[in-house]
Amino acid sequence: MTGPGRGEADCLFCRIVARQAPADIEYEDTEILAFRDIYPKAPVHLLIVPKRHVESVMALAPGDTELVGRLVLAARRIGEQKGFGERGYRLAINCGPEGGQHVYHLHVHFLAGRLQERRVERR
Ligand code: 5GP
Ligand code: ZN
Repeated sequence: MTGPGRGEADCLFCRIVARQAPADIEYEDTEILAFRDIYPKAPVHLLIVPKRHVESVMALAPGDTELVGRLVLAARRIGEQKGFGERGYRLAINCGPEGGQHVYHLHVHFLAGRLQERRVERR
């Protein structure tokens, strides 16, 4: 798995963006791609990524404000397209080793569908 500081040369999500690795793509615009997580943790689990390689939240620069906004707005659009515009969904970003990040290409987890029931089940 791609670790911190290894750059985009061997980045899994860069390869997906370049269509060099397979993925079930659900949304695309000029700067953003969203595809299904291979190990879904919810009935709908997508990963929303910038096409440009950015390692993590910790690697964001002040000039990345617009990119971060685009990621969240893409999530909103996906939520509406998939019928969760009113029902709601969860967005999560794991940041760095202690934040549980495993793939070092910035990504927003989009989780939707029966999240509350699943939470109750775990209690
Ligand atoms: P992280 O743990 O870095 O926040 O999230 C990485 C996510 O990438 C995990 O939820 C994991 O299931 C997903 N993932 C890992 N390898 C692949 C892959 O090859 N394809 C896809 N679509 N998702 C992957
Ligand atoms: Zn990358």
